[in-house]
Formats: sequence, C-alpha cells, structure tokens
Amino acid sequence: MDYDAHLSAALDRLHQEGRYRTFIDIARERGHFPHAVWHRPDGTTRPITVWCGNDYLGMGQHPAVLAAMHEALDAVGAGSGGTRNISGTTIYHKRLEAELADLHRKEAALLFTSAYIANDATLSTLRRLFPGLIIYSDELNHASMIEGIRRGGGEKRIWRHNDVAHLRQLLAADDPAAPKLIAFESVYSMDGDFGPIAEVVALAQEFGALTYLDEVHAVGMYGPRGGGVAEKLGLMGQIDIINGTLGKAFGVMGGYIAASARMCDAIRSYAPGFIFTTSLPPSSRPVRRPRSRI
Ligand code: PLP
Repeated sequence: MDYDAHLSAALDRLHQEGRYRTFIDIARERGHFPHAVWHRPDGTTRPITVWCGNDYLGMGQHPAVLAAMHEALDAVGAGSGGTRNISGTTIYHKRLEAELADLHRKEAALLFTSAYIANDATLSTLRRLFPGLIIYSDELNHASMIEGIRRGGGEKRIWRHNDVAHLRQLLAADDPAAPKLIAFESVYSMDGDFGPIAEVVALAQEFGALTYLDEVHAVGMYGPRGGGVAEKLGLMGQIDIINGTLGKAFGVMGGYIAASARMCDAIRSYAPGFIFTTSLPPSSRPVRRPRSRI
C-alpha cells in the first residue's frame, strides 16, 4: 500500500470539492475583546475583529475568570495529574461539578474535557446501560451527538428538525415497552433556532422516554441564572440529562452533563471517554457571571 498516495488522494478530493480548509493564525488580545492580531503566512501581522467566536460574552478575558485561573495555577500547577479514576480527581473538579449541578438544579454533574466528548461518551454509554434503547435524534443535532449515537450501535430514529408531529409518529410506531431516549438541542448550532422543549418533554412523558438536551449554546446565555433555555422556560426539572459546555459563554474549556446522581454515577463508571483520559486542568475554571462584560 502506498500510504502517502492515499493521503494525497484524500486531500486532493477535498481541494477538488472546494472543501479543503485553511486556518488563520490569530492571537486574541486580552482586554480588547473581540479584537485579535492575525499572524499572516508572510510573517506580517494585521489587527482584526473576531465576530465568529464562541466566547459569546467575553468571559474568557474577564478579570474574575483570569483571577480564578491564576489562583488555581499558582496553588496546584498546570495539569490535573491524571485520569479521574487514578490521580486526576481534584477538589477543583468536585467544586465545579457541584456548582454545575446547582446551576441546573440537578443532583449531580460530571465533567468531561469538552462538550463534544460529553455528548459522545454519554450517548454511546447509555446504549450499554439500557439494552435495546431506541434513540430519537433531531436531524440537525450536532456531530458529537450523532457520533455518540452511531458509535453506541442499536436502533435510532431521526426526526425531522423540530417536527414534534413526526417525533410522535416515530415514538408511536415503536414497541411501547422498549427503552427510549429523545436527544435534541435547545439552541441549534447550525440554524440558531430553538428546540421545542415543552412539546418534547410532554411526548417523553406520554411515551415513557428519557430526555437528553444539549444546551451548549444556551448555558451562560439564557435563564435567570444562566442555566439555559430550559431554565428560562422552567423546564430543567423535566429534562433527564442536560449537556453543556464551558467553552462558549463561560469562556474557558470543558464540557459536562448534569443529571440524577445515579445517572452521573453510571456514566462515570461505564464511559471510556470519561475513564481513560486525563482530566481537565484545575485552572480551567469558569466563573458564572452571565451577561457580565469585560
Ligand atoms: N454541542 C453543540 C450543539 C455544539 O455546537 C458544539 C460545538 O460547537 C458542541 C456540542 C461541542 O462543544 P465543545 O466545543 O465544548 O466540545
């Protein structure tokens, strides 16, 4: 096998389809959100404004966030020291999980290195915990949910985006005794529209399904305490598993699920994406301060 030729052919395909990606190298300027400096390939620099960032509120440069990160860095160093199972569970992780559980009014929360990993690890592991689980997934769900659902194997049904009549049809067509989970988003990453949370919750109750809500684009942005759209609508208590990120409105990095203590314990105990990877650095410390600006 000519490995290089295969790689070149794969890259050529992307060029031909116009899908080959080039990145631009930037350095954000602390204190000047959303400005940055573009380091161009020719070695020169140019000031730019970044309107496409995830750091929606500029919290990644907020003095309170930076102070919290400095404090942890100075106290315990750069890394966590390992996986959560062996040597990487720190008091910082525990405190953050308690705060996230409180944010979503859940019994517990579980941290992952990103919301992508949280979605992938949780959804694939739920298949192992509930044999025969049928997952009903909105057709515009994020790649991380699609990947977790796909990797877990088993039955899945794709419902047309935000079409609760279609979701009902699919639920009604399946064995009433089969375990079911409805996976959807509160703010869709591609279209920027809202998921029909109240209607989905009602269907979940009617058909005995669990609910899995990705609030990645909503945490820190919606709800009186920044708990997301479900908090704003008073529906957090009706959602079984809430997924969120620390990398967007909270301005740092990392992801999590918030759910019952038993659910978090089971995912903690069974998910390879949680067990076999170094935990977040303790200094990755978001500070909850929605709508605050630098
Ligand atoms: N879920 C949705 C809906 C997203 O849009 C994204 C990223 O953009 C993720 C999950 C992954 O979040 P993270 O960047 O924390 O991995």
